[in-house]
Amino acid sequence: MRVPVGTASLVLSMIIAGGSGLPCTAGPADTPVTVQRSGSEPSRKGPPENFTGSVRVDPMLKETPPSRLSGGLVTFEPGARTAWHTHPLGQTLIVTAGAGLVQQWGGPVQEIRPGDVVRIPPGVKHWHGAAPAAGMSHVAIAEALDGKVVEWMEHVTDAQYRAD
Ligand code: MN
Repeated sequence: MRVPVGTASLVLSMIIAGGSGLPCTAGPADTPVTVQRSGSEPSRKGPPENFTGSVRVDPMLKETPPSRLSGGLVTFEPGARTAWHTHPLGQTLIVTAGAGLVQQWGGPVQEIRPGDVVRIPPGVKHWHGAAPAAGMSHVAIAEALDGKVVEWMEHVTDAQYRAD
């Protein structure tokens, strides 16, 4: 039987603690809580091969094993959007400002607003971006599978973008 490393070390620590009545810790309990200060990570431009229009990415969460979660704040100028893409374990978008759009392949274009939480299921082809006349910001978080969080595809054409 294959046992995940985390499980194996938990079982080992339980064996070592062996009925002593002491609490057994599964993780590094002495690891400090950290605060990553706003603005401490440089902003990046959304690269033109994966985005249309002007997009800024502010990294927020770097993948920190054993967690596989990473994410950032993505800011789209009016009309800007991602290319079509998928996420191996899905993605969550939390809209923080402006007015945006999201669409899955074969589905309708849906409007999204601040406070909306968008769940993209694993492997579902989709895009997200700003409305034509308003910018939009969202926090985007996703778990990596084998080190990958996204599979990029073709750009969203103007005809696809306006089809709503
Ligand atoms: Mn996405």
